[in-house]
Amino acid sequence: MRWRLCQNMNHRRSDAPVRYCPSCGEVVNENIILKKCSDAEHAVSRKDRYKHCVHCGLQLIK
Ligand SMILES: [Zn+2]
Ligand SMILES: [Zn+2]
Repeated sequence: MRWRLCQNMNHRRSDAPVRYCPSCGEVVNENIILKKCSDAEHAVSRKDRYKHCVHCGLQLIK
């Protein structure tokens, strides 16, 4: 129940536009197909200060 502590709005949506929450890395919409990301995409996500990749759930910031 870790996600209950997460304030990210994606958890409150039944139709979240992303598979993973960028804050905690939990799956918020498992209907979205798991995507393979490139390092470049992860670099962009890191710039946006996402802790986790919304496409593959990888932890970006430790
Ligand atoms: Zn979350
Ligand atoms: Zn990714």
